[in-house]
Amino acid sequence: MTLNGLLQKVRSYNQDGELLEILKKAYHFSSEAHCSQKRSEGSPYIKHPLAVASILADMKMDPASIAAGLLHDTIEDTGTTIEDIKGIFGKEIAFIVKSLTKLSQVEFKTKKEAQAENFRKMLLAMSQDVRVILIKFADRLHNMRTLQHLPENKQQRIAAETLEIYAPLANRLGIGWLRSELEDLSFKYLMPDLYEELVRKVAKRKEEQEGYLREVIDLINKKLKDEGLPGKVSGRIKHYYGIYQKMQQQRITFDQVHDVLGLRILTDTNANCYAILGLIHSLWTPIPGRFKDYIGVPKSNMYQSLHTTVIGPKGERVEFQIRTEEMHKIAEQGIASHWKYKEKGVIDEKSNKYISWLRDLVQVQKEMPDAVDFLEAVKGEVIPEVIYVFTPKGEIKEMPNGSTPVDFAYSVHTQVGHKCVGAKINGKIVPLRYKMKNGDTIEIITSQTHGPSRDWLKFVATQRAKTRIKQWIKSEERSQSVELGIRLLETELRKHNMSNALMKSDEILKAAKSLGLNSLEDLFVSVGFGKVSPHQVVNRLMPDKPVEEAETVKIRKPVQEQKGVSIKGIDDILYHTAKCCYPIPGDSLVGFVTIGKGVTIHRKDCPNLERLVVQDARLVDVEWQSTGDATALARLYVETIDQPGILANLSSLISSININISHLEANTSTQDRKGHITFIVEVKDISQFRTLIQKISQMEGVIRVKR
Ligand code: MN
Repeated sequence: MTLNGLLQKVRSYNQDGELLEILKKAYHFSSEAHCSQKRSEGSPYIKHPLAVASILADMKMDPASIAAGLLHDTIEDTGTTIEDIKGIFGKEIAFIVKSLTKLSQVEFKTKKEAQAENFRKMLLAMSQDVRVILIKFADRLHNMRTLQHLPENKQQRIAAETLEIYAPLANRLGIGWLRSELEDLSFKYLMPDLYEELVRKVAKRKEEQEGYLREVIDLINKKLKDEGLPGKVSGRIKHYYGIYQKMQQQRITFDQVHDVLGLRILTDTNANCYAILGLIHSLWTPIPGRFKDYIGVPKSNMYQSLHTTVIGPKGERVEFQIRTEEMHKIAEQGIASHWKYKEKGVIDEKSNKYISWLRDLVQVQKEMPDAVDFLEAVKGEVIPEVIYVFTPKGEIKEMPNGSTPVDFAYSVHTQVGHKCVGAKINGKIVPLRYKMKNGDTIEIITSQTHGPSRDWLKFVATQRAKTRIKQWIKSEERSQSVELGIRLLETELRKHNMSNALMKSDEILKAAKSLGLNSLEDLFVSVGFGKVSPHQVVNRLMPDKPVEEAETVKIRKPVQEQKGVSIKGIDDILYHTAKCCYPIPGDSLVGFVTIGKGVTIHRKDCPNLERLVVQDARLVDVEWQSTGDATALARLYVETIDQPGILANLSSLISSININISHLEANTSTQDRKGHITFIVEVKDISQFRTLIQKISQMEGVIRVKR
């Protein structure tokens, strides 16, 4: 490939002279920058960016992409800076080149981490401008095509990465030809023996069946003509890795793979696809279960086609794919077919369908600080393992394997997901965590008064459902704490005989700002979360009272012991456990809001609770977080016979099972000659506590034990 060859290719679909000038400029800039570099086989480095640009021209990409293809390695490998590129080629091209430049290796501990971080960076850029990934694909494809020049360990690493992530991603974006080529090249390097064997067998099969398929083609052509149906018939060969995968998945031998060679018929309209299908089924007997209507139900990567397998004229199976020219273009080029000639990376609605999953991922990626986790999430999205389920109306829907009714509900509509309370599978009620199976008919039961539960996050399979649930919880928690914050502040105002009107005053906004909070809402949230006490706020509203110095330190950091309890998932609350009932992990809890002290946690069966409720305290739902090594205080009351040494025995029993005694009180009543001992012990959770109670109750001299 030469510059002139490249320009000629681009000119065949884009005649804008000015844009072509950019390509010349990019070529000269790049060859200058790379002038002292060689590819590993010894040729001048510029051959690589030129080949990448040429692949992009074959994909009929816009000149900005092709220029970026020419420049893609300049920053990483040469002294060029991003400012240089921006200065000469503008922001748009500079953004793409920068997105394709790897972060420097020094910042990472491991290669895996570096790989994941670079990948994340690229995908985030891709969600803004899809061209980034298309150029990366062209780069990877050329590297794979010239992989023979690299040492074997590099070959293996690059091929594995290509197979693991780039090929599935190409498939997800609907670029069929690229996926096949990347898979076959990877396959060749990863499993050379198997690959060679398949190449030989496929060639042999082709030789054996060519004449036969020719006959079938001729016959169909004649019939199409007779019926007046437009259609082009051609032979097609399944790609090697596709054959290998089929053999693996269905545990069959090569001889049992019937669709190695098949026929494809391209026509003009959807209606004619079905007409041609009817024609073929009238000529030969279709094999039951092998007909697939991807026109009615397109794959998630927009692939559309009719597939059928028939018993051909000599008793041999023949697979047909029938589709329109347009569908064929989409099957081969995917997102790139919508892309051509578009400006500035803005994509149309159709292209958006290819990457809506990525947009969802990008939204939640802020909550995935680890790039390796992000990479795993991407893999989960691009590796298609799907099931088909039916709506009650008989519409078919494709879902990722492992999907639950909640995933299904969110795939219908966000509001259906939020309001989902139950599901029927094939007419029977199932739990929401039910894993759907191929062919299930699913009906979602909704209720207007319900919202999502945090528990759903434990079982949903799709990123879409996860994102929507998290968003809902977040906004719900926020509005709850706003409400709580307002209540607490109003109570505090009342306490000081101050007017409620202050709640909307400039003064309170000033007070918020002085606490480092930007809006009233932020202030209410902070008070609601217990990070700022109402007292601190109201203090600032008293004109004659100077602000105490100590109080200017505003945000209370939760202390170590406070990890462990959350209000419906908010784990950053200020709380303390009630001394009346000593709740421990495993107990059912209820929290109630105390003025200025955050939240007090009681056991749900605490006898004091009733009284507290009457006092109009604000109750909140709380739950234990997993506590790890943390312990909680629990109270234990033991009644014994009055006998010397019993206290010592009890204490040593407790210590012998590694439970710390933080406090004890003992007395004997002369009336009934009994010992009354109260321990405060540090336990991990309810089950450890129960074991303790059991052990003590079996001790000699113990009459009863209770909490
Ligand atoms: Mn490169």
